[in-house]
Amino acid sequence: MNAKYNFWFYIGSQPLYGAEILNKVEEHGKIMTESFNVDEIIPFQIIFKGVGTTTDEITSLCQEANNSDTCAGLITWMHTFSPSKMWIHGLNILNKPYLHLNTQFNRKIPFKTIDMNFMNTNQSAHGDREHGFISARLRLKRKVICGYWEDDSMRKRIAIWMRAAIGSIFSHNLKVIRFGDNMRYVAVTEGDKVQAEKDLGWSVNTYAVEDLVKKFNQIKSDQIEEKMGEYREKYHINTENLESIKYQAQLELAILEMQKELNFSAYTDCFQDLGELEQLPGLAVQNMMEKGMGFGAEGDWKIAALEAVMSEMSRDLGSHLSFIEDYTYHFEEGNEAVLGAHMLEISPAIAQDKPRIEVHQLGIGGKNDPARLVFEGKEGPAILATIIDMGGRFRLIVHDIIVIKPMEAMPKLPTARVMWKPQPDMITGNEAWIYSGGAHHSVISYDLTAEHMKDFASLMGIECIYIHKDITIESLQNQLLMSDIIWNR
Ligand code: MN
Repeated sequence: MNAKYNFWFYIGSQPLYGAEILNKVEEHGKIMTESFNVDEIIPFQIIFKGVGTTTDEITSLCQEANNSDTCAGLITWMHTFSPSKMWIHGLNILNKPYLHLNTQFNRKIPFKTIDMNFMNTNQSAHGDREHGFISARLRLKRKVICGYWEDDSMRKRIAIWMRAAIGSIFSHNLKVIRFGDNMRYVAVTEGDKVQAEKDLGWSVNTYAVEDLVKKFNQIKSDQIEEKMGEYREKYHINTENLESIKYQAQLELAILEMQKELNFSAYTDCFQDLGELEQLPGLAVQNMMEKGMGFGAEGDWKIAALEAVMSEMSRDLGSHLSFIEDYTYHFEEGNEAVLGAHMLEISPAIAQDKPRIEVHQLGIGGKNDPARLVFEGKEGPAILATIIDMGGRFRLIVHDIIVIKPMEAMPKLPTARVMWKPQPDMITGNEAWIYSGGAHHSVISYDLTAEHMKDFASLMGIECIYIHKDITIESLQNQLLMSDIIWNR
């Protein structure tokens, strides 16, 4: 459990019912909260905030939620009937993710004993409709989940929304640092940083590579030795060139020094702008990504930010994700697959086995041979997610994939690599991704699913295109046409 965040559970009602029924409602709320909190399906703590019965109570609860540093979302449920004009002001000012549960304390109707008293106490069937109306009327961003509160199926959906809510909270506080600009002439790594801060909360700012060089020159040899110890413990050293590894250790320490000062969670670099640095960060950034640092190569700050957000969403699951790039295709008929990799910067969080540190020449950039981790990605279902700037809005694209073991070993490939089969098949999947404008850079995650990312997009109020096993090009093209009408507001 990530103790940085909790969620507030608040039940709506009204004074009309009298103390006896309201006490019963409160008691039920406590029982449900305790049950949620001992269930490992629910990944974050839920705090019961009582029963709201008046406009003032509801408004002040929403204000309190807004001001809380740890509250990552408000979960509401109408055990009885709560006239929703009482909720207008509170919900209008609420700036935390909002989940409306439609459930009921009793699973089954007690046919033999049911009377009006029972019905008046247990009337979420219509209390939640009144509540749903006001959210619809106010055009609020919300998630609605219906189900019996003890059922795993409902709790799993709550858990998915919780991770998306954490992504949203984290996103609104995210700082991204750029060392140098994005790669010259590249389109997809461009983007509107003001729009990004407005829509996604990402504060994206540039620092000179010279600032990093200054930090680099201040790193002491005992710090480097300590970092080398960490590398030796975590990775196989498969090179004689220890100097190159030490150089990466010094680079990592320099970036961490800057992080201490600037408190960023994601950063970019660009091989075209390394100043006096003698190597492109490889092992250095790989080791940091494994601990949750978002990274984008060639100045791709959008993917760096998205990676940091997805890492936070899946932290308690181990954050098995990485920056990745579609690199080259395998067009064997009936066994088509994509080989994903990058020049250096793939996170060891997705490694199948213990990674090897190797030193090889880097064909571009004209700098010294950088140490990097080489490994194969672990097999299994995963998603690719990317975010592009459509001009005035951002589009999140999510693609279901199956990571496979490569058909053969690739002993001469000097980089980490992952091989996958896009859904529904490589031909349709690639066409769908390309029609959607998906970048060559994306985040691969083994922990998160499209449901998490769709909930995240919904919370952020951005467009989301989902490429899955049932998609057809025709339906996607229609959706893309509709999107331009819907989102160009
Ligand atoms: Mn790239």
